[in-house]
Amino acid sequence: MPLTKDAVTEALRGVPGPVPGSDLVGGGYLRHIAACDTYATVRLQVPGGSAEDFDRIADAAHRAVLAKARLGGYPVDAFMVEFVDEASKTLHNVKFGKSSAAPAVPPPQPQGHTPIGGLRQPSPQAGTGPLPGVRYVVAVGAGKGGVGKSTVALNLAVGLARKGHAVGLLDGDIYGPSMPTMLGLESHETVVHQGMLQPFYVHGVKAMTIGKLVEPDKPLIWRGPMAHGAFKQLTEQTNWGELDYLIIDLPPGTGDVSLTMAQLLKLTGAVVVCTPQKVAQDDASRAARMFQQLQIEVLGVVENMSYFVGDDGKVYDIFGRGGAEHMASRLNLPFLGSIPITMALRANSDKGDPTANFVGKDRAGQELSRALTDLVTAVEGQVSMAAIRQGQTKPSLSIS
Ligand code: ADP
Ligand code: MG
Repeated sequence: MPLTKDAVTEALRGVPGPVPGSDLVGGGYLRHIAACDTYATVRLQVPGGSAEDFDRIADAAHRAVLAKARLGGYPVDAFMVEFVDEASKTLHNVKFGKSSAAPAVPPPQPQGHTPIGGLRQPSPQAGTGPLPGVRYVVAVGAGKGGVGKSTVALNLAVGLARKGHAVGLLDGDIYGPSMPTMLGLESHETVVHQGMLQPFYVHGVKAMTIGKLVEPDKPLIWRGPMAHGAFKQLTEQTNWGELDYLIIDLPPGTGDVSLTMAQLLKLTGAVVVCTPQKVAQDDASRAARMFQQLQIEVLGVVENMSYFVGDDGKVYDIFGRGGAEHMASRLNLPFLGSIPITMALRANSDKGDPTANFVGKDRAGQELSRALTDLVTAVEGQVSMAAIRQGQTKPSLSIS
């Protein structure tokens, strides 16, 4: 019998919480449980505490889950506890079981055709598609690097999760993965369980990135077929479970990964990120046309680094606000919103704390949070309209 959410909840009922006299369930600390097969992740919201406190609580939770599983006669191979604060910021992570003892995943070899080590070979799943548990797949692309594609993908994922959706984030930029830094994954270990990569559960999002499977400073050089293989493995051999949204951060430009993605996945659509300048618009319209040629619906255009709000509250149009909106209307595409240049956004990305983008207190922070929330709402709307338009019969593309 597999591990279920209910079984984990039951087990946690008797485990003491951080405040004496309370247990993890009755005390209201339990925020989320992801249980899949013999693997479970628990998210606890706590008022604070030391690493020792967290370790002690996690240890008691682990023992309770093991005891419950023994009674039910099912195995627990991996159990993780994530502690978060009120703003969903990760404070501490603890992992147990085979997860911590799991062999590290040997890095994939960009120079050869070897699959990512330790992973199961893909088995064809007739009729189910590669991601049967995922409702909407949304790619985030841009004409060039540095315009904020990863920033938009990440904040879209975190923003959707904050609205209660089950969200996955795939760092599909296999040439320049940003998510290890932007999500703060440095201290997280990669877990392979039954031949499948277990996503990192951070900031309410299940994330996977090739950046955690290779050495951080190693250049990632993939020839076309290898890029295809790397993206395919990351996508198909991650244990995403049930998701409302899978957000994919694509590499810049119009290359191999986009082709692979179009072949592999039934995408709900793509979001194009653009900065306001004319040169950026030219590149972004090429990206939009590429998606259309691949029969991927363009959900709309986001203008990033649109304007800057100074400490005095004054607004500066550094790059010429509105350029991307014009481009969108020229191409007859929806405009999804503008994100201001914000020092905190850059700093939170470097720190791996995207949740902080949604709870800023000062003028610029409030503006950022509003802009991101509006973007999330606009994307939600476009996704549901696209899903209705596509019905169940979206054409799939074959590329030879
Ligand atoms: P891409 O994925 O398109 O290459 P990134 O999302 O990595 O771009 O963004 C490039 C850099 O610019 C990162 O350091 C990021 O934190 C920063 N950045 C992106 N958008 C903004 C913004 N609106 N305000 C401030 N910094 C930003
Ligand atoms: Mg990027």
